[in-house]
Amino acid sequence: MTDSGDGFNETLEENFPGAVSKDSYLASTYQSLSAEGFSRDNTLPCVALCRDEIAGPLVRGVERYWGHTFSLVSLAGMVTAGRTGISAAMAHAPTFAGRQHVVVYAMPHIAIAADGTIGQVERSGLTGTSAACGALSLFRDGLLEGRVDIETDRLDAEQSLLSHRLLTLIPYGDIPGLVELTMLTAQAIEDDLRAIVADLLEIARSQDVSTPDHALFTGVQIHGPDATNYVWPKSAHIVIGGVERDLAHDGVATTPSSTP
Ligand SMILES: [Zn+2]
Repeated sequence: MTDSGDGFNETLEENFPGAVSKDSYLASTYQSLSAEGFSRDNTLPCVALCRDEIAGPLVRGVERYWGHTFSLVSLAGMVTAGRTGISAAMAHAPTFAGRQHVVVYAMPHIAIAADGTIGQVERSGLTGTSAACGALSLFRDGLLEGRVDIETDRLDAEQSLLSHRLLTLIPYGDIPGLVELTMLTAQAIEDDLRAIVADLLEIARSQDVSTPDHALFTGVQIHGPDATNYVWPKSAHIVIGGVERDLAHDGVATTPSSTP
């Protein structure tokens, strides 16, 4: 998949089979939605990714295809913007021919070093490697040391919400590895996003208000050596005219990546 390092390739294949380059993933998702009537002109893109600057290339990639994003960014990519944030995004979607369109890219991230070490990345300007995702690593460190705070710290709100949400998914006493924890986070992000959108659709229906056509892409963003980025596609869900379905896509672009 890449000549960046055998250790990296082996770890990527073993833990994230089917992962594709960021560019292929973006081209593939754009192509899939183009066939469904979504376009750069008629669609508001949203990103629910980690705040980490190394998640930035995916944000900028989404913007290259879709234009300026509505930010649902939060530590680890958790959807802490909630109903209020996503309702605002939906309200801001442009109206073309009587229809609005929203696309959301929502996923946590993880790093794999050239030698295959999981969770370590080289950051520009820093000596050596550091953790990614730092928020998930910090939560895991708390599990290892038996000191996860279950009270909400208003001065550390996102990490508190992240910890509380993940604790609901981890059996008492278990300490998942970073890959497993990242997968749990991806599932929580997908479940929360789908639940929030379902709530908003229900509210809109009860008020006889139309809702945007929308697509939700989830997965895991993976940082490789030499600032390379990959995506492991998890799910693609689409709602058009109120009709929900899963969108078949494996993240592989059918033609060479072309940026509009
Ligand atoms: Zn992070």
